Amino acid sequence: MTKKWVYLFDEVGDAEKYAGDWEGVRALLGGKGAGLADMTRAKVPVPPGFTVTTEACNAYRKSGKFPEGQWDQEMSSMKDLEKKTGKQFGDPDKPLFVSCRSGAKFSMPGMMNTVLNIGLNDVTAEGMVKLTSNPRFVYDSYRRLIEMFGTVVMDIDDEAFEQPMAEYKAKKGYKSDTEMTSQDWKSLVVTFKEVFKKETGQDFPQDAYEQLELATEAVFKSWNGKRAVDYRRATGISDDLGTAVNIVTMVFGNMGEDSGTGVAFTRDPSTGEKKMMGDYLLNAQGEDVVAGIRNADPIGNLKKQMPEVYKEFMEITDRLEQHYKEMQDVEFTIEGGKLWMLQTRNGKRTAKAAVKIAVDMVDEGLISKDEAVLRVAPDQVDALLHPQFNSSEKAKAEKSGAFLAKGVNASPGAAVGQIYFDADKAEEMAKNNKQTVIMVRPFTKPDDVHGMIAAQGVLTSEGGATSHAAVVARQFGIPCVVGASAIMIDLDKRTMTVQDKTVKEGEWISVDGTTGEVFLGQIPTTAPTLEEQTELLTLLLWADEICARDGIRKGPKGYPTRGLQVWTNADYPKDAQRARSYGAVGIGLCRTEHMFFEPVRLPIVQKMILSHSSEERTRYLDKLLPYQRSDFDGLFEAMDGCPVIIRLIDPPLHEFMPDEEALLEEVIELRVKGETKGLKEKEDLLAAIRGMHESNPMMGLRGVRLSISLPEIVEMQVRAIFEAAADCTLRGVVVKPEVMIPLTGTVKELEWIQPRLERIAGTVMKEKGVNFDYKFGTMIEIPRAAVTASEVAKLAQFFSFGTNDLTQMTFGYSRDDAERNFLVTYVEQGILPVNPFQVIDRDGVGKLMEMAISEGRKSRPDLEVGICGEHGGDPESIEWCHLIGNNYVSCSPFRVPVARLATAHVALKHSGT
Ligand code: ADP
Ligand code: MG
Ligand code: MG
Repeated sequence: MTKKWVYLFDEVGDAEKYAGDWEGVRALLGGKGAGLADMTRAKVPVPPGFTVTTEACNAYRKSGKFPEGQWDQEMSSMKDLEKKTGKQFGDPDKPLFVSCRSGAKFSMPGMMNTVLNIGLNDVTAEGMVKLTSNPRFVYDSYRRLIEMFGTVVMDIDDEAFEQPMAEYKAKKGYKSDTEMTSQDWKSLVVTFKEVFKKETGQDFPQDAYEQLELATEAVFKSWNGKRAVDYRRATGISDDLGTAVNIVTMVFGNMGEDSGTGVAFTRDPSTGEKKMMGDYLLNAQGEDVVAGIRNADPIGNLKKQMPEVYKEFMEITDRLEQHYKEMQDVEFTIEGGKLWMLQTRNGKRTAKAAVKIAVDMVDEGLISKDEAVLRVAPDQVDALLHPQFNSSEKAKAEKSGAFLAKGVNASPGAAVGQIYFDADKAEEMAKNNKQTVIMVRPFTKPDDVHGMIAAQGVLTSEGGATSHAAVVARQFGIPCVVGASAIMIDLDKRTMTVQDKTVKEGEWISVDGTTGEVFLGQIPTTAPTLEEQTELLTLLLWADEICARDGIRKGPKGYPTRGLQVWTNADYPKDAQRARSYGAVGIGLCRTEHMFFEPVRLPIVQKMILSHSSEERTRYLDKLLPYQRSDFDGLFEAMDGCPVIIRLIDPPLHEFMPDEEALLEEVIELRVKGETKGLKEKEDLLAAIRGMHESNPMMGLRGVRLSISLPEIVEMQVRAIFEAAADCTLRGVVVKPEVMIPLTGTVKELEWIQPRLERIAGTVMKEKGVNFDYKFGTMIEIPRAAVTASEVAKLAQFFSFGTNDLTQMTFGYSRDDAERNFLVTYVEQGILPVNPFQVIDRDGVGKLMEMAISEGRKSRPDLEVGICGEHGGDPESIEWCHLIGNNYVSCSPFRVPVARLATAHVALKHSGT
């Protein structure tokens, strides 16, 4: 028996049996086909139809022809449609028409092809005119078929059809398609057939089955079309899936004023508010709404125009939401007063809407808290904390006359950039010239997606909230304003004009996707606060609860049994406060050297470095001590009750000194001018700096090596830490200081320095008469430390992976040089899967980390382990930290909310429940 390549919509049970589960059905029939079949089963009015499977598509892609049996099955399924509808394909007396629609497992809106009105030809057209007495509708449909068939199946350029149509309308003085009469459409059918013949050398095929066969093939082929491939690259959808083909009985929304077509979201895809949002057009067909050819009506108006249909529509969409427990994005058509559903899928939404919908659905009892947490991707949270325009700056811009236009606020966020009027140029300027770019178009088409992704923002002069530009921008989190109709775009002159203001290509504008406003020039942006986003706060609390579940993580004895904690990297009390308000429960890295750079302190630091004796050095350090103590005091206070890891001085000392070249210039200038005042000091300083020169300072005298050469510095730092901690304790603040020694390569280094420092800690506590818990530990950022971790852990009470250095040292790359010179090529050539400075290299660096933890816990079972490199805020790297048994990840304050969600995701993913 030949394989089953085709499933009728009412054979979804068979598909389930074959595919195993619903995921499998979606893979087999595609999302659109599975949805149509599922709706059919749920007795939602769906026009009869069938689906040719993705397996058939993949077989076709391999062999270049339909697999055996596919076409026979399609033809016999057509017979089934004929039976169900009482019509006949290609028969002028009671003609059946179908659409041929693409639909992959994951929705790729508008990326592949669809042909409507298949079955129309000269004969059936006449038949339809007789049947409907509506020649205008018939010829409109026919010319659409020739155009869609021509562009989709025969690869004719859109322009070849649009040009003569525009000319025709201009000649007649029409502004809109609605003015076209039946005669007009009829003569366009003739023109379009001529175009078809001229472009392909063949006549437009009159045979209905030939139309169907070629359209099926074209849909298969569209899987490998450029825009589909681009889209898959951008969204990470696999190239192997293939698309299904859905053959659906046509229902006509362009049959008159009691017909129409529309698209709708069951909730607001921009804000998440529980309110139906959509657009529809009376007397129009499918794509008209999305293409924004005419300005559509908001769905609410349907209530007045067709109350019965509206009621049924609301009832059906409500049922669909309950069934899928997800916000739905639906397509519908009304034919002669009867409602038909043509598609349902989980709707794309902004980050803001994703959070609100997830939280609301928990309140509505539709989904669990765990499910809600999983519904929001960590990176979406990042978008929520992204820049908005500073409102006073915006007001200022407005006053100064920079306001250009207002359109539909299609995708929120603020974008500032230089404008470009086509996707290729926008992409080129963004990628090659590193500009921040705003792509401006009358409207966008699927071919434009690569330009949109490269842009910071998108602006169109046409279309509405469900137009292509809006949908794509929301999906990728790109601020977007659509339908700013006051803007006149001149694609030839490469300008856009609003009244007397003209903006040229390459000039700056500011686009506010939250309000729909567009301004000339660059308006400063600010980041929104977390406090005002109550739904996000709720969701993050649920995420924390998940991580706090005892037993959610399995591992060897001594390993953490809860999820990861999220700590933060903060050098100053104000950063610590912000991070804490974002939910950080510890400081994983405070870099003390930043404190040395402050203007009043730097001269003292420099004198300290240049000191000739230990006594002299100590004198300067005594001056620095109060500063450091007060820094730490503020930090402990801000983090009351939480652990605070303070890293002792790490960078090479030359970083604190004046620039050698600049100093040399000054010396030369003084010499040339013959001035002696100050010359001697400058010469001495220059000599000292030259003496400190190292050919590879990042691998030279820094970290613990520096502490061993000049122990006075870290001795002062430890004294400052413990004095501050003691003072805080006396004030009732709960302190948990952890002193971190950087760049350890051998335990002998710790053996040398740590006891001295611990002695100071003990002395200070005795002096102040207080006692509190503290730890001494080290960074693991040199491969040797990772390899000898069981030895290192004999002294170190905690490890913190400094994965920036660990990655540099493991690969033997210097980060700046690598990123500038060859990393991009390496990633492009597939030598590295991604930039290892952004995502942890699990096979190399990650293995070292895993080993360091297991070795370290051999000698110290309760070893506390964290990560403080930039990877600590990256969801994929966070997953690795979870798997190898880290206690926490530490990241920059702004990444804390992202990390909280990411830690919960991985905890659930690997909980085994
Ligand atoms: P896309 O994936 O780009 O949305 P679709 O296959 O959903 O493509 O179809 C494009 C448009 O045509 C949609 O508006 C859809 O509702 C409409 N359409 C598709 N099939 C039919 C049909 N059988 N009858 C009426 N309209 C249809
Ligand atoms: Mg669709
Ligand atoms: Mg380091």
